[in-house]
This record gives sequence, structure tokens and C-alpha cells, in this order.
Amino acid sequence: MHIPASDQTFTLTIDGLPVEGASTFDVTNPSTGQILTAAPQCSDEQLDQAVAAARGAFPAWAALPVERRRQYLRTMADTIDTHTEMLADLVVQEQGKPRSIARAEVAGLGYWLRATADIALADTVNQDDEERRSITRHVPLGVVAAITPWNYPLGQASFKLGPALLAGNTVVLKPSAFTPLANLKLGEILRDVLPAGVLNVITGTGGLGSRLTSHPGFNKISFTGSTQTGRTVMASAAATLARVTLELGGNDAAIVLPDVDVKQVAAQLFWAAFANSGQICLATKRLYVHADIYDDLARELAELAAAVTLGDPAQDDSVELGPVSNRRQYQTVLDLLNDCRDQGYTFLCGGLPDPETAGYFIRPTLIDNPPDSARIVREEQFGPVLPLLKYTAITDAIARANSSEYGLGASVWGADTEAAHQVAQQLQAGTVWVNESMHLHPQVPFGGHKQSGIGVESGLAGLLAFTNTQTLTIKHPQPTA
Ligand code: NDP
Repeated sequence: MHIPASDQTFTLTIDGLPVEGASTFDVTNPSTGQILTAAPQCSDEQLDQAVAAARGAFPAWAALPVERRRQYLRTMADTIDTHTEMLADLVVQEQGKPRSIARAEVAGLGYWLRATADIALADTVNQDDEERRSITRHVPLGVVAAITPWNYPLGQASFKLGPALLAGNTVVLKPSAFTPLANLKLGEILRDVLPAGVLNVITGTGGLGSRLTSHPGFNKISFTGSTQTGRTVMASAAATLARVTLELGGNDAAIVLPDVDVKQVAAQLFWAAFANSGQICLATKRLYVHADIYDDLARELAELAAAVTLGDPAQDDSVELGPVSNRRQYQTVLDLLNDCRDQGYTFLCGGLPDPETAGYFIRPTLIDNPPDSARIVREEQFGPVLPLLKYTAITDAIARANSSEYGLGASVWGADTEAAHQVAQQLQAGTVWVNESMHLHPQVPFGGHKQSGIGVESGLAGLLAFTNTQTLTIKHPQPTA
């Protein structure tokens, strides 16, 4: 199903109602570079209204038995499932990913909501005797600002909505202005599912994000985005001591041991780096390959890169890679490619695109063993460019992999899984995989070490991050002597 975004209407969701923006802003189709449609711009006044609606809805929502909120999450999932094609189509148009991946993203939203609904949030009995009863429980924080990036517009929301709502909070969701449309429709289809004010969805340019994080009405800021913005968010939250969870940038290293089956591992590594055109926080962004297999693996990867189909996923369902998702990110990746060219590094495939090409397309590009000081090694490319880095001693590979301000994910690839496990234990990252990458599960926490973030999402730990810990102590009457 394909309905052009320009044929649809988009409204904010505030207090359970459709709200026109104070004005509009343009949303661009990354496959063409042309304006897709206009989205509603949330004014300061409307932001206040959204926060007031969430504050107003909070007491009743928090007072519901948790079992009732679990049921709400499941109904949300059922409703989303019935709109999979519509939501996926919008993700394709505004974000530029292949339709099959967009469908999986929508399915993942439902899956995450259902799995989150099943997470137990138990009280702890600290003491229960003649003297006193002491219980530690987890109470909601209040109103949550959920701020998400453009790479997985609905996927990123899925990590926040389920746990925030299950814990008893109400939410103001602000997706990226590059990809507002699917989230606006999400708000629309959930208007009849959730009580008014429990979920508000607002969009806008011109610093709407920073207006959220400096708004005194939030008790928690759950932010996913770049490390640079994350620092600003944290500073902003200091004013009210709003709780923060920061899921930030990464520069994930993969280390390939010499005993791998090169052909088999090449396909896995290719998609670990280039799925969604490299625009995944946990994508492989630096590939350390043992010298014995370096040339073979480089050749296999280059062949895969040459064979992959690149195109506009709204026009062709068989496209395997879409464009870079917006002009800003496209410029970032071009800047890195220009630097690689200027420094004289070897391109094994891909390279700078033809400037006459419409849309933000860059073919998957492999850079042949640049120095560790290269920008393409040190910086997060968040696009379809991968440096291959040669090593001989595993201690050297581990030290180089760890030599980064980032620590989001990492992976180790080897036939001897015990040896690979030994290497994995020495990597500084929030999630380290052996012989796979990017596998996430709603009941398993993930988050960044170092400057890749603070706190975790998903799992019990991710749910607890949307609560305050409260200890209740009841002193029993004591018999008089
Ligand atoms: P940005 O940091 O630019 O933006 C993220 C979100 O924050 C957007 O909604 C943005 O709105 C908003 N925003 C921008 N400036 C501010 C501000 N000063 N205060 C509050 N909010 C603000 O990141 P990108 O959208 O470019 O996303 C890419 C980055 O996200 C990469 O670094 C990537 O690694 C990281 N990321 C991390 C993940 C993780 O789980 N650790 C997962 C996915 C991505 P607007 O777009 O409208 O400006």
C-alpha cells in the first residue's frame, strides 16, 4: 500500500485531540530531495498545553492497577498491528528505508509493547516482623519527555513508550523534525485507545527539542540522539533535576579473528555495517580484521557492496538499501568521504556520489586500512562507509577497538567461540556480541558506556529507569513493658 504523504493530513495529539500546528514545516523525501509534505509546527503555547494535558492525566493513570496498564499496552500493540502498512509506508517515504525493514520496524513496536507488558515490577519486602514492615516499591516519576532521532522513527519510540506508560507515567513524545509523520499517525491511531493526555505527540523545528528539555513540567527526559546533543540535554535537565536516560552515539568496533569462515562471515558483517544504510546506532562502524584473512574478507565485502541494490524504496520494493535519510546527515557522510579522498586513502568500492544524482544516495563504501588517526576511524559516520583496519596481535586489536570516547556496542567474530568470548570480555561497550551483532530483545537492557550514554533502555532495568524508588516503612505498635 502506498499513499503519498501529500495526500494525508497530519495533526498533533494533545489531550487526546487532533490539534493543527500553529504553522507548518516541510518534510523532505530523502530519495528525491523534494518536499514530501508539510507537518504541524508545535508552538510554545501548544507545548505548554501538551505538558498540562500529560500532568492532568497523570494521577488517574498512575492510580490504575498495573494489570490494567499492561492491558492498555497490549491494546496499543493490537491497534498498531492493524495499521502496519500505513505506518510502514510513511516510514519509507520520510526516512528512506526499504519497505521490508519499515514493516519490521512497525512490527517491532507492537512486539516491544507486548513484551514490555509482561515484565514484572515487584515490590521488595525488606523486613516483615513484629517490629516493622518495610517495603521498597517503584512509583512513577510523572511526565516523561520522549525525544527520538530519525533513523528508526517508530523503533526508537518503542523503547520508551511501553516502559514509561507501564510504570505509570504519562508522555509527551517528540520525534525528529526530519521524520515526524509516522509518529504523528501513531498518536492519531492511539487517541481512542489511551485515556486523553496519557500520550501526546508534538512535532516541530526551531529548537522544539531544547524547549522540551528546559520545560519545568517534565520529571524525566528519555533522549536518544547524538552525543553532542546529549550533553546539552543533560545540562538542561540539571535545572529541575529531571531524571535523564541518554542513548547516544556509537563507533562500534567488530574484531574478526583469523579462524572465521570468510565467505560466511562477510555477508553477516556486510549487513552489520550497512543495514539501513549504516544509520543504526549499533551498526558496525570500524572493522578490525586479522592480517591473514584481510585481503580475502575485503574482496568478499567489496563484491557484496557492488551487488547490492540501491534505490528509492517507495518506488521499488526490491531495493536493499535506500538513501541517507536527510541532507544534514548526507553532508556529514560526504564530508568524511571527502576527507578520505583528500588524505589519499584507498576506496575498495563505492565513494563520492555523482553530484547530479537526485536524492541522498551513497553506495556502500569500504576504506582500505586507513590510519587509526583518520577521521573515518575516530568519528561516528552513521552512514554507508566502513573503514577496514588490519591487525596482527589480538591485544593490539582490543586496544585499538577500546581507544574511543564511545562505548555503545561491539562484536567479535571467530570459529572458536571460547577464544572469541575471551576477547569480547575485554571490550568496553554496553553490549558485546559474539558471532552476531545488533541483536536486541525487549527483556534485555541495552545502553552505552563512556560517552555513548547514561542508563539503559529495555528489560527490567529499562523499566526501573521510569520509576522512583520508594521505601515504605510501617512501625507496628509495640507492647508496653
Ligand atoms: P540529534 O541529537 O541531532 O537529534 C536527536 C533528537 O533530539 C531529535 O528529535 C532532535 O530534534 C532533538 N534535538 C536536537 N537538538 C536538541 C536539543 N538541543 N535539545 C533537545 N533535543 C534536541 O541526533 P540525530 O537525530 O541526528 O540522530 C543520530 C544520532 O543518534 C547518532 O549519533 C546516533 O548514534 C544516535 N542514536 C543513538 C541510539 C542509541 O540507542 N544509543 C539509537 C539511534 C541513534 P530535531 O531532529 O528536530 O532537531
